[in-house]
Amino acid sequence: MVIKKEFKLIIPLIFIFLGLGSFYVPYFSRSNLKVQNIDVELNFEGDNAYSYIVDQLNIGFRIPGTQERVDCANYFISKFQEINNNFTYFLDNFTLHSTECQNVLFKLNENHSNIVILGAHYDSRARATKDPDPLKRTDPVPGANDGASGSAVLIELAKAFFAIRESLSCQIWFLFFDAEDQGADEGGAGIVGWDWVEGSRNFVDNIDNFYNSQYEEFDAMILLDMVGGTHLRFIDEQYSTSSLLDELFAVGRSLGFTSQFPLNPTSSSIIDDHRAFLNIGIPSADLIINFWDNPNWPFHHTTQDDINNIANISLDITGKTVEQFIHNNYFNSTIEDYTGNYPWFEDIDRTFLEIIMYFIIIIASGAIITLTFNVVKQKSSRDIN
Ligand SMILES: [Zn+2]
Repeated sequence: MVIKKEFKLIIPLIFIFLGLGSFYVPYFSRSNLKVQNIDVELNFEGDNAYSYIVDQLNIGFRIPGTQERVDCANYFISKFQEINNNFTYFLDNFTLHSTECQNVLFKLNENHSNIVILGAHYDSRARATKDPDPLKRTDPVPGANDGASGSAVLIELAKAFFAIRESLSCQIWFLFFDAEDQGADEGGAGIVGWDWVEGSRNFVDNIDNFYNSQYEEFDAMILLDMVGGTHLRFIDEQYSTSSLLDELFAVGRSLGFTSQFPLNPTSSSIIDDHRAFLNIGIPSADLIINFWDNPNWPFHHTTQDDINNIANISLDITGKTVEQFIHNNYFNSTIEDYTGNYPWFEDIDRTFLEIIMYFIIIIASGAIITLTFNVVKQKSSRDIN
């Protein structure tokens, strides 16, 4: 019976050990990736991106089904043709709720088979459903940040990458989504009866029309949503492929943008345009801010999402980080070693890991109580003997 008594001590000790070890779970699940960027000059200019937001706001409200939405798509085409008259583009026309909608896709380096998609939505919300003034909640949202900022960064990135296209070993898609932002929040629908992210879902449903799966494959999709507001601070978006989002954070931090890509970001799962791409197995990441509970940028779905709450520096930081990320992974003339997380297959479900951690802690606490009880009991029985 001596062995049994020892087991009574060993088993709780194992659980205590596991419990202490589990404190390392969040440590390992959080990104502590450090990268050594390859040395290139970054061409992205935040001031240019800012001017592309101003242009979009001057067009008007880019609401699905309106002439302004059409004008905005034509504006993108004219900007890409300024970069190169023969920039390849495709119009993805579709009908939603009896409304003509349109995603716009530009392709760079079609000779390369590995595709990276850079995406943003360009529709603006039809109603400012979260405006602090109840009288303004039926007014449209200017969408300077929510819509125009990501689109502006895509244009400036296209300019930067076109200049060095021959040094890049990947194909890049610049993809502008219609019909992202009309679903219902706590203040009601943007357009009654519409859902979120309908444009990107439609695109992915028909993605076979836009590439040849025999010769081409998708490496990654990076979504830019609300990247131009003041006090930029990205979140750890939970649907995103963690190895891809972690690397983007690491690249941003290594450029010195430590408050925009913090080590302790807010975590949340956001229904956004990256999800349709995740659903078909493409590693995808959403660069997005805390837009629901953020005293530093409380303008989401309000009439104040306008040019006054945009910062050039936020656009600059986002653009330069994506530019550096592409350089690091696809700059084919480099002889420098770069180690990131390519091919971004790994996806750690941090929420699940945290649930496991709490579960083990509860078991370990139980084990500590049992062990203490056993020790006391043994001691008192020895005392009696
Ligand atoms: Zn929105």
